[in-house]
Amino acid sequence: MIIDGKKISAVLREKLKEKVSKLKSTYNAVPGLTVILIGEDPPSKIYVKNKEKSAIEVGINSEVIRYQDNVEEKVVLNKIKELNENDKVSGILVQLPLPKHIDKRKVIETINPNKDVDGLHPMNVGNLSSGYDSMVPCTPLGCYLLIKDVEKDLNGKHAVVIGRSNLNGKPMTQLLLKENCTLTITHSKTKDLKAECARADIIIAAVGRPKLVKADWVKKDAIVIDVGINKTDSGLVGDVDFDGVSKVAKAITLGPMTIACLLSNTVECFMKAQSK
Ligand code: NAP
Repeated sequence: MIIDGKKISAVLREKLKEKVSKLKSTYNAVPGLTVILIGEDPPSKIYVKNKEKSAIEVGINSEVIRYQDNVEEKVVLNKIKELNENDKVSGILVQLPLPKHIDKRKVIETINPNKDVDGLHPMNVGNLSSGYDSMVPCTPLGCYLLIKDVEKDLNGKHAVVIGRSNLNGKPMTQLLLKENCTLTITHSKTKDLKAECARADIIIAAVGRPKLVKADWVKKDAIVIDVGINKTDSGLVGDVDFDGVSKVAKAITLGPMTIACLLSNTVECFMKAQSK
């Protein structure tokens, strides 16, 4: 069984389009997303272009602020402060990675947590881990929605998350804990990853290693989500050996769920701002 994030994200985007249209008639305003892009990193440029296009499609006001690689850190921080004060901007996203001379932590902590559509501000991270209402990073949120689409009741399921990044692995574990999963968090120092995966009802691979997860690592009918995007000589591949794994498990491709969740987070920020 192969589950395609494309279809589910298309449904989500359609719902968001309707919601934005209703918000427009209620508030005479629409959510606004501002993305800051620094430098010429080719994948980042593509991601930002796709985010802009998708935002416009659902009726969100989209703005991209571009800086050269050598922009001073204080210029970026001052721009974020200005956007924090701008009522037309519901969500702010600074595209990562950043050039070395810019402190990622300072940048993230300057964003108003109520506009932090990437869910990386420590306030949102803390709220998520405490089980409180928070902005959730878009990729794990997308994975979570896909898993819930396949399996409503996750009580007691054993989930193995491969990777412990702040962007993917860690928030993923928090979302699954909330659903009463039993969690195993694995990383580069894990002794026997294959054995850990073999016990899992759910595997989320967010590693950055081409085709790491093999068919003989997974239980029959386990849910396997491939977050990885890896550039190889034969094109882009995931962290899961998809052809093999999809014969054994319910294999899931994330598709454009990350962007759909970014739009959803932007709409959520807008609605919270209206209710204040
Ligand atoms: P990251 O920050 O580099 O983290 C990778 C994690 O994988 C680390 O925790 C690392 O362990 C662990 N790891 C590395 N090699 C391993 C191995 N052999 N066995 C087990 N664990 C291992 O990466 P990320 O930002 O989370 O991204 C992960 C992947 O997702 C990348 O391919 C990225 O391109 C992709 N991605 C996709 C989307 C999407 O929308 N689909 C969004 C974001 C990222 P240590 O902590 O011990 O180093």
